[in-house]
Amino acid sequence: MREIVHVQAGQCGNQIGSKFWEIISDEHGVGPDGVYMGQNPQQLERISVYYNEAGSGHYVPRAVLVDLEPGTMDSVRSGPYGQLFRPDNFVFGQSGAGNNWAKGHYTEGAELVDSVMDVIRKEAEGCDCLQGFQLTHSLGGGTGSGMGTLLLSKIREEFPDRIMSTFSVVPSPKVSEVVLEPYNATLSVHQLVENTDMTFCIDNEALYNICFRTLRLASPSYGDLNHLISLTMSGVTTCFRFPGQLNADLRKLAVNMVPFPRLHFFMPGFAPLTAKNSFDYRAQSVPELMTQMFNPGNMMTACDPRHGRYLTVATIFRGRMSMKEVDEQILAIQNKNSSYFVEWIPNNLKVAVCDTPPRGLKMSATFIGNTTAIQEIFKRISEQFTAMFRRKAFLHWYTGEGMDEMEFTEAASNMADLVSEYQQYQEAAVDDEDVEFDEQEEYEQEEQN
Ligand code: GDP
Repeated sequence: MREIVHVQAGQCGNQIGSKFWEIISDEHGVGPDGVYMGQNPQQLERISVYYNEAGSGHYVPRAVLVDLEPGTMDSVRSGPYGQLFRPDNFVFGQSGAGNNWAKGHYTEGAELVDSVMDVIRKEAEGCDCLQGFQLTHSLGGGTGSGMGTLLLSKIREEFPDRIMSTFSVVPSPKVSEVVLEPYNATLSVHQLVENTDMTFCIDNEALYNICFRTLRLASPSYGDLNHLISLTMSGVTTCFRFPGQLNADLRKLAVNMVPFPRLHFFMPGFAPLTAKNSFDYRAQSVPELMTQMFNPGNMMTACDPRHGRYLTVATIFRGRMSMKEVDEQILAIQNKNSSYFVEWIPNNLKVAVCDTPPRGLKMSATFIGNTTAIQEIFKRISEQFTAMFRRKAFLHWYTGEGMDEMEFTEAASNMADLVSEYQQYQEAAVDDEDVEFDEQEEYEQEEQN
């Protein structure tokens, strides 16, 4: 079996990570005490991707929980699924990171990182054939962001040939008031570009908009945002967890989705999205799911895909439905919107189907897009970064932890490069290639003459 080691760091990372485990445990029939109580053999077929078997029908998440302060992890431990986790896999400090990336990455976090690596190594050594790692964290704080990215580089160093994937929560001023977030996020993106194979960009701005506009919640809580995240995480990991062929592990997904190594920042989406207590009849059909799924309002990243082009797309349908109908609909979408897909990657839209729907729904669809429009989030962060950095505001909090101003400049320019790389491929038309092709043909003809 091909196993994944899950790591969750910081407040946000632990909150969304724990929700993920609640949802997938429910889907796999694993109770809060770790005992299997399901009926469907499909639930167990690939259970070892995420769980260790502890004997007598007990399953334990292959999860490592990390924080620089004890609060969030205490509430995970005392929460409904707190007993599920291996007690030794809670690793925490007391100091906190005070929303300061430098504390997470260079000072407080660096002190704790070896004990975290010990636990991660132990989990990895217990695997039969480790496929890779997934990290849940936020980019705006200090621990998940600073120490989370420190962990990424340590894991990379020790397991250079394993896949690294992250669920990274992008900050939004609509949700949080912490002024340092653009700095922390920029420093993190700099690391993610180099040290992950895929990053699912979960954008608090988009989650807030979905809660406010679609779900009609007047003042969304983290619980509401995290519910959307858990639907998405359960959706994108479906193909790893249930039997099937397409994108069945981290590496296969990365291979299909990432045409250029740096351009691995994905826009996830989910359908149906419906207000609590309102049953959406329309979303109970394949065409309706398809329409919703490609709708910008269903994306978990606040970017408009119509402003860019898709390099690649993977979709996952769950529930009982006609495969033929799904294929036809996908073809129709692709034909109707062909200008939104780069034409130089043929068949860049892939569909997987899994019989088992998520709880409470007859069918659902999850979207993973590698779109050039993702540059919009990097531009948004970059503008906020520049506004402060121009005046060197708040820099002393970072230099006080031993950081050099250069690292800020480098991070900002790496992110700017990323934006222009997306832009370059957005504009790259098949025509550019044709030119070379024609020249080649002319050349060959001349040769023949
Ligand atoms: P850390 O503990 O130092 O890693 O800091 P946090 O995880 O609290 O990072 C702050 C950022 O995460 C801000 O952008 C918050 O809006 C966001 N955040 C914190 N908790 C949650 C959560 O439970 N859900 C979501 N979606 N965002 C969160």
